[in-house]
Amino acid sequence: MSEFVDGRMLIGGELVQSRTANWLESVNPANEEVIGRVPAAGPEDVHAAVDAALGAFDAWAGLSMAERAQYLRGYAQRLREEGKRILDIEVRDTGNTIAKLRHDVASAVRGIEYFAGLGTELKGETIPASADALHYSVRQPYGVVGRIVPFNHPILFAAKFGAPLMAGNCVVIKPSEQSPLSATVLAEIVRETLPPGVVNIVTGDGAGAGVPLVSHPLVKRISFIGSVPTGMAIQRLAADVAVKHVSLELGGKNPMIVFADADPDVVAANAVNGMNFGWMGQSCGSMSRILLPDSLYDAVLDRIVAKAEAIVQGDPGKEETGAGPMNSKAQYDKALRYIQAGIEDGARLVAGGGRPEGPEFARGYWLRPTVFADVTRDMRIFREEIFGPVMSLVRYPDGDIDEVLRLANDVEYGLTASIWTNDLRLAMRAAREVRAGYVWVNGVSRHFLGTGFGGFKNSGTGREECFDEMLSYTETKTVHVHV
Ligand code: NAD
Repeated sequence: MSEFVDGRMLIGGELVQSRTANWLESVNPANEEVIGRVPAAGPEDVHAAVDAALGAFDAWAGLSMAERAQYLRGYAQRLREEGKRILDIEVRDTGNTIAKLRHDVASAVRGIEYFAGLGTELKGETIPASADALHYSVRQPYGVVGRIVPFNHPILFAAKFGAPLMAGNCVVIKPSEQSPLSATVLAEIVRETLPPGVVNIVTGDGAGAGVPLVSHPLVKRISFIGSVPTGMAIQRLAADVAVKHVSLELGGKNPMIVFADADPDVVAANAVNGMNFGWMGQSCGSMSRILLPDSLYDAVLDRIVAKAEAIVQGDPGKEETGAGPMNSKAQYDKALRYIQAGIEDGARLVAGGGRPEGPEFARGYWLRPTVFADVTRDMRIFREEIFGPVMSLVRYPDGDIDEVLRLANDVEYGLTASIWTNDLRLAMRAAREVRAGYVWVNGVSRHFLGTGFGGFKNSGTGREECFDEMLSYTETKTVHVHV
């Protein structure tokens, strides 16, 4: 029996409860048991965290790149060492499988080490603007950065603050109120490895903690990962308070564009992997729309159905489990509403659609991997992000390249896309014309550190996981020296 997690926030190097004296409970989505709680932060906590970050800023920004890098490497090392403890909490708190979550801890560590090595690349320029002066630019940190992150990769998103820190900023992080428990372990690690106030963590919901952070006049840089409606609300809120730099990593309704020369076995395997059923579809880059030419449609459909039905659900803490429950009742209810919408709109349910069978699934937010065939562009399950284990198969006439690209682009989102063909000309054309920020040709899902991840259209602004991310935490100052 794992122990109850009694969470704390981190403000100015101290592990604290909320000044509101309120708590948020967290349940294990596999069985709905309460497994821990975190402080429900209010505006006073957020203001204290911003004050602590402001207080730490001058000293942190005054360190050399080598000193900051050394701190970050020490932090990354402790994160790696605490991986097992984090995973134990995270599996129970999210319902994601241990095999999948292990990558999250590893990739947070890799991201921090990557940025730790890039500090001295934050170069300015000398500009030959006149003959009698020295014109140069330097990159300086904003000061305090507010980072607001979603529920689906809690530790990964909360822990990967290498870019703002290396650029010399201090941060206030607000994890999601869904699955917030690993933030407590993170708080302990940060407290042990970084100077007080450089990183502060406030737990709480959007209204209690997110809104005061966005609307704090001294937090000029907000980096947000989450849904489109919240991203838009944050832009509005920020604009009412001050001029801010807001970066947004938002949702997706990502197309897999399959051309007629593709192998149905390979396409089906990658469609199912790319849909991230192992995360119950709760990963932003998931391939939720599979666009298939008539000639491949039936063959791919049969194979996808077989693979989706073969996914073994169960205890997410076991290595062999293929998928766990959904993260929360809200997500579960939303997915069920969309399954109903798919049926009402005339799509053909060919796999899943309900709870798995068996007494172990009687409680909790369990849903079978679900596949709809004959989905068309007017349907809600084609157009809207479900963020659940629901895949849509869409048919287009063989050879009609314009039509498949229109289908791919006919949504408000533009996060990722996956293109399947060995015809280089087709691949290059589709890669050019698809309106998405992260495109795989003959691949899905994988992120490559150093390459920019982020969305076109309503999927966001700004890029992460690359050098540009670090630049985005600086502002340029130009200096003219008249000798
Ligand atoms: P969400 O937008 O509901 O919440 C995200 C965070 O914002 C939470 O911490 C929440 O408390 C906070 N929040 C809510 N209202 C707020 C407000 N008014 N002001 C300030 N903060 C507020 O998103 P979610 O349900 O947690 O996550 C799922 C969404 O995130 C999906 O749309 C998914 O596609 C997206 N996502 C995008 C990426 C990416 O890299 N593009 C990655 C992961 C998830």
